[in-house]
Amino acid sequence: MTVITEKLEAGSQSALLENPGNTKSVCPNCESAKMEPFYEVKGIPVHSVLLMPTRDHAANYPKGDLKLGFCPCCGFVSNMVFDPKVHEYSTSCEESQGFSPTFSSFARKLARRWVEDYDLHGKTVLEIGCGKGEFLAMMVEEGAGEGIGMDPAFVPERLDTPVSSHLAFIQDLYDERYTHLSADAICCRHTLEHISPTSSFMRMVRKTIGDRPDTVLLFELPDVYRVLKEAAFWDIYYEHCSYFTTGSLARLFRKHGFDPLELELEYDDQYIVIAGRPNSGKPSPKLAGEDDLESVRLEMRRFAERFRIQKESWLGRLNELRADGKRTVLWGGGSKAVSFLTTLGLTEQIDFVVDINPHKHGKFVPGTGHAVKSPEALRTEKPDCVVLMNPIYLKEVGAQLSGMGLSPDIIPV
Ligand SMILES: [Zn+2]
Repeated sequence: MTVITEKLEAGSQSALLENPGNTKSVCPNCESAKMEPFYEVKGIPVHSVLLMPTRDHAANYPKGDLKLGFCPCCGFVSNMVFDPKVHEYSTSCEESQGFSPTFSSFARKLARRWVEDYDLHGKTVLEIGCGKGEFLAMMVEEGAGEGIGMDPAFVPERLDTPVSSHLAFIQDLYDERYTHLSADAICCRHTLEHISPTSSFMRMVRKTIGDRPDTVLLFELPDVYRVLKEAAFWDIYYEHCSYFTTGSLARLFRKHGFDPLELELEYDDQYIVIAGRPNSGKPSPKLAGEDDLESVRLEMRRFAERFRIQKESWLGRLNELRADGKRTVLWGGGSKAVSFLTTLGLTEQIDFVVDINPHKHGKFVPGTGHAVKSPEALRTEKPDCVVLMNPIYLKEVGAQLSGMGLSPDIIPV
């Protein structure tokens, strides 16, 4: 495995860091229309995947505001007051979901399918925002020839794979300095939602591809249509400045000269999976899911009222449990938990947070300062209720609890 820690000199300021942090009213996705604000939360932690060593550190972590805007032209949703300068992506980011068997098995199947469907056998895959490198390793294990991963949060010791001699990692952010890299597939999973100027990003990706029209783009990211429809406010947090639906993502691809080849919802319809190739002249026919502008607009307009009802309902339920002397814990110490806790302003209603990722144990949740413990801690703490931050893990978490002889009420969000 090759690991490059030395960063290329920045010739000019990175295109991804150009944003001033003031209210941005022009859509960063289509650069044409004015965004319409529709949801606001003030004073939320600017980071929810950074580990906090002490409760004080967690409680005093820098906070920022979030003001979601909707673009009437392309359907894009983004935080209009996002300031990218506050972020510190580094090796202390604990974004990996690879400790969950449910998530790992989904990722494995996706890696296998992409290698098969786009014939990546023996070919080179570049992954932008590769995290700890698990998925890139899976692509190579499933038949791809070489993998190049880019992420400042990559940690070599954390990756255990038999194909490490076919992998190279650059511990840096992808920007103009890296558009010379060459690959047969460019993969980008759970990364575009962290990038504010999405249009500039796609221009760089197009530049990286150059005159190789066979290069395939493979992207995966959360679907905001479900979030709007279910008022799933815990899926809205500071690091996610950009929110897509199938339609707005496909429109971004087409605007930058890519024909969408597949456009699917996966992982219980939580994630959008899109593949695309440089357009060869005349645009390809539209795929199902591309024409969603009117339905997204409708759900956006209903969001504020739905959120108010959700918030009241959760606060009522959790306060009642507390008043009845019941012990409630939260399962899942990721960004969803941070958003759930801070948006509802929860304190003693939740005893602590449980997570299966051992790198999080003994640490604290940014914002509210709740402690993160291992599931094993529940043997002695014996909660009455477990609020599960992602319903897809219901079976996995239920089995783990009953394996410990515990049968608390599980309340999925
Ligand atoms: Zn737009």
